[in-house]
Order: sequence, then structure tokens, then C-alpha cells
Amino acid sequence: MKAFVEQFKAQAQHVARDLRHRRLIQTALGKYEVQRDRRKAVFRDWESARQLAAETKWDAINHLDTHLAEFASKLEARGTKVHWAGTGQQARDIILGIVREKKARSIIKSKAMTAEEIHLNEALEHAGYEVVESDLGEYIVQLRKEAPYHIVFPAMHLTRDEISDLFQRELGSAPTDNPEELTMIARRALRKKYITADIGITGANFAIAETGMVSITENEGNARLTAALPKTMISLLGIEKVLPRLADLALFLPMLATAGAGQAITCYNSLYGGPRQPGESDGPEEYHVVLLDNRRTELLADSEQRDALHCIRCGACLNVCPIYRNVGGHTYGTTYSGPIGSVITPHLRGLQDWKHLSYASSLCGACTETCPVKINLHHHLLHNRRNAVRQKPAFLEGIAFKAFAFVMNRPWLYGTARSIGRWLQPLHGMVKGTRLDPAYPWTKTRDLPPVASQTFREYWRARK
Ligand code: SF4
Repeated sequence: MKAFVEQFKAQAQHVARDLRHRRLIQTALGKYEVQRDRRKAVFRDWESARQLAAETKWDAINHLDTHLAEFASKLEARGTKVHWAGTGQQARDIILGIVREKKARSIIKSKAMTAEEIHLNEALEHAGYEVVESDLGEYIVQLRKEAPYHIVFPAMHLTRDEISDLFQRELGSAPTDNPEELTMIARRALRKKYITADIGITGANFAIAETGMVSITENEGNARLTAALPKTMISLLGIEKVLPRLADLALFLPMLATAGAGQAITCYNSLYGGPRQPGESDGPEEYHVVLLDNRRTELLADSEQRDALHCIRCGACLNVCPIYRNVGGHTYGTTYSGPIGSVITPHLRGLQDWKHLSYASSLCGACTETCPVKINLHHHLLHNRRNAVRQKPAFLEGIAFKAFAFVMNRPWLYGTARSIGRWLQPLHGMVKGTRLDPAYPWTKTRDLPPVASQTFREYWRARK
């Protein structure tokens, strides 16, 4: 749809010119790279770890049917209700059904990109329920009525002063630029919500097939409270989250923390295998797991790009992407931004509407190089470009490339075109960068290199 691409271009131009915003993001991500490299050095062999992670995810995704069936049956054996949602609408209906059945009034939620993907909060709020995000960054962007800026750091685009102003406005707190005080303000507000919430909704980082357990990794302890205090717990996860064995976490937990935040390991790593069992003192009375497809199986059917489902949502490719660093997360207009978002969004939301994201890349390959599970991201962007053109050929571009090939295959014609180009160059100089310039879409932001005064052949002949 034209609106998405126009919106992207306008927002990208606006943000790229905002030097304050760029400085903020560069500073935040500059620190990340130093910490990540320090942590990577602790691995005995980071490259071998990447290879093993890629092979493990290959096994998980290529045997998804058996791993998912094992995961679901083990969870059910401990009393968990497993739901299969083919679409975002089905997932919303399932969760709304549980909330209604429980006669819930308020809901506490920990970070879940799948919930963002299906616009769960909007659906619950529309139905009259209060939903409160418990992750600090998510809570901040929720108060601002904004989408997360980054899949790992949702509020990284904000300064302390902006957060202080927000808390003053929304929570009536005193102004402060002390990060600990700001955290305490949010914590005081959130504690009340945990105690009164009827339902806790979480996402998941991994789904362990061997044991039927949901693995959640976090730094604030908010997901634990979300899972432990309300009587009913719901975990919403994409079907690609599966790992075959419990032992795989020994690799994936430190790898996710290292690639995602430059940490050795996240502060809290929990496994949830079912509702409270007889003799246990805490945990929910009822546990629901909603497994979301939402076009993931279509991506699974694409043998060329299937490995995009290996993503562990560490956010590393966003952090190193020169485009993301300059245009920012909100510009993409999607749940998943940066290189991985540009690869999967056209699959999840329609190739023709979102193909422009495949061009939001310099194809430098920094994303592929950094990805801990070795997804060939920049090649997938090229695949998306090719598939979009195959699906809907670009008529004028097709003619232009055919004409280009025709000229390049005929040296005499190329020589004539070059002479005409040299002759027209001074005329072009008079209109360059203005709307009278036929090359304006190019020259408004870039230089059009001058035609060389001498070709290589002329130069060679002149040298004798
Ligand atoms: S594509 Fe790779 S680097 Fe990007 S978020 Fe996923 S796992 Fe991380």
C-alpha cells in the first residue's frame, strides 16, 4: 500500500535529520557494542557457539511438527491448557475468552512481542479491561501511548528528563533525573497492579519440547511477579520459539543475553511447566499457553527463507544496522523493526505492502555477521526484493533495465550515449537538485557523479 511506503520515507527523513535523536541512539548503542564484545570474548569460541545455535534452531524448525506436539502434550500432562491460534484474531479471541470466563477486571502483562504483533492490549482495552505493562520500558511507552522503539529496549529513545516529565504528568510524581528514583516511582505504581490483577499475561523466550516448559528471561523480576501473583497465567508465544532439549538453554540463555544486551546472563531465568501442582506453595491456579501461527507456517513452507524463523529476538541486528541507527525504530511502522523486521514483516503482513522495507538496507551485511543464529539477513532482503518484482513486475524499471542491457551490450551505442551524456552534463548542472531536474528523485538527496572527461580506452590510447 502506498501509504506505508510514504509514511516510512517521510518519517525516515524527519528522524535522520534530528541530530539530537541520532546522538541519543548512537550513544546508547555505542555502549552496547563495547559490552557485547567483552561478553563474547568470554565464550571459548563464539563462532562455534553460533554454528551450534544455528544447527539447533535448524533442527527445531525443520522438525517443528514433532517438537510442538511433544511440547504441548508434556504441558497438558501437568494440567496446562494449550490453545492453537492460526491467526492474530484467533489468538485475541482465545485470550479474551479466558479473561471473560474468569470475570477478570485487571490484567498485568510482561514483555511479549507476540502480543504487540497481534495488538492484544488494544483488543483487551477495547473490550473494557485494564492492561498494565510491567516491564519498565514497556510501561513507559504504554504511558506515552507509543509502540516499543526496539524489541529489547522499548524506551531507548527517551532521556531521563523525558521520563521524569512523563511520570510527573501521568503518575503525579516529583521531578527527578535519578534513574533509581525513576525506577522506584514506576515500581510503586506497578506493585499495586500486581496485587490486584486477576490475570497475568507473559510472552516466552523459548519453548522446551523435551520437558514441556516455557522459558522466560528478564532483568527486572516483573515477569516472575506477573506469573506468580495472579490466579490465572497466560503465555502467548510464536510457534517458532521451540528448542528441542532443556540442555539447549545452556547455550541459548547466555547467547541471548550476550547478543541482546552485552550481559553474561540475564538476572532472572525462569521455567514454567504448568499451574501450581499439589504441595506447591505458589504459582497460578490455572495456566494457558497460546501457540500463535499468524503466517509463520507460510514462512516455514518457504525453504529459501525458512531460517528467518530461527530468530531468537535478541535485537543485535537492529543495534548494528546503519539504517536502524539513523531512522530509528518507530519509522518502520511495524512490530518487528530493523533487519529482521524488514525480512519477516513482508511475510507476516503482505509482500506488496511492506516490500519497501527490503530497500531500507545498505546490504552491508553487518546484521548477518552479528546474528547469533547465523540468519543470512541481507540475502533475505534481496530475496524479498526479487520476490516482490516476480509477483508484480515493475513496468518502468523493467524497460529501464532492458534499455540499459541493450546499450551495454553494444559498445558503439554505449560510446554514443557517453558522448551525449557529456554534452548534456552542463545543461543538467543548471537544473540539478531542482524539480526541473528529470533525475530529481535521485539528486534531491544524492550527487549524480559527472560523466568522466575521458574513458579508460581514451586514456589508454593517449598513453600510447
Ligand atoms: S535476526 Fe538474529 S540478530 Fe536479529 S534479532 Fe533475530 S537472532 Fe537477533
